Amino acid sequence: MSFTRFAPSPTGYLHRGHLLSALFVFAAADYFGCRVRLRIEDHDQSRARQEYIESIPVDLARFGFHFESISLQSNRYALYEKYAKKLKEALLLYPCTCSRKKLFAENPVNEDGEIIYGGCCEHRKEASEEPFALRFKVPNKNILWNDLLLGSFQENPKLQCGDFAIQDRLGQWTYQFAVCVDDLEENIGLIVRGEDLRSSTARQIALSQALGRKKEPLYLHHPLLFEKEGKKLSKRQQSQSLRAELEQGMDEMDLLGSVCFEARVIQENRRVSLEEAIHYIQNAYFGRFSKNSLLN
Ligand code: GLU
Ligand code: ZN
Repeated sequence: MSFTRFAPSPTGYLHRGHLLSALFVFAAADYFGCRVRLRIEDHDQSRARQEYIESIPVDLARFGFHFESISLQSNRYALYEKYAKKLKEALLLYPCTCSRKKLFAENPVNEDGEIIYGGCCEHRKEASEEPFALRFKVPNKNILWNDLLLGSFQENPKLQCGDFAIQDRLGQWTYQFAVCVDDLEENIGLIVRGEDLRSSTARQIALSQALGRKKEPLYLHHPLLFEKEGKKLSKRQQSQSLRAELEQGMDEMDLLGSVCFEARVIQENRRVSLEEAIHYIQNAYFGRFSKNSLLN
């Protein structure tokens, strides 16, 4: 049995964007024949909050989403250490003492606003007294992959972002690293997430291979919901939470219908059940695949 996962970061309450993402995850799991894990991605301890962590499974259960397992990244530091050791032994890590200011002053940025690290600390062997990040030596080659909805992509991580951090200067494991370890350890064969993460895929494939992953997962990046002004829905913009919307009088079926309507998988804004919502997503997006065709 293969697994997929829903992996929100607990830096705010879940909002409509998460609801759409959860619908895609469950629609894909049902269609392609895999089970769903919930992973709460609290790798960024400066932004994660306990009340948000606790709210995630509770809020999802209200809509009828139930999970095969629930994990929390902050419980897995020993595992991250183990994999970091493996990379270190393969001579694929080096310490980088550059400050944020130095990084932005000395390196170009890509279209997502991330620096393309030029490798100025590449030859550092041992860390100094100063705080340091650990960078992963990315291969300088095109990585090819095929997205189930978007088609084929290729990207060279060396040119796209350069050697990236697996641990930051505060000692926190980064998203890119934690997600690859977790997807490997949790036997995730299908990754369903928003299109905003598409650009992380090539570097995650490179890192997963270095971690020892034998078979790449399948990737499915889904369209995002946009707010009226055309901005991406995100917690940082203080979008309304599902909790708040439910308190203000909408019920779960109203919200499911409204999200399906905004995502244009139904033509009018009406109440729908979870089963219907999943069915509409499958009809709109997965029709060209035969059922249970991709995994195992
Ligand atoms: N934690 C990430 C987010 O909330 C998702 C990570 C992933 O699906 O790879 O945006
Ligand atoms: Zn550096």
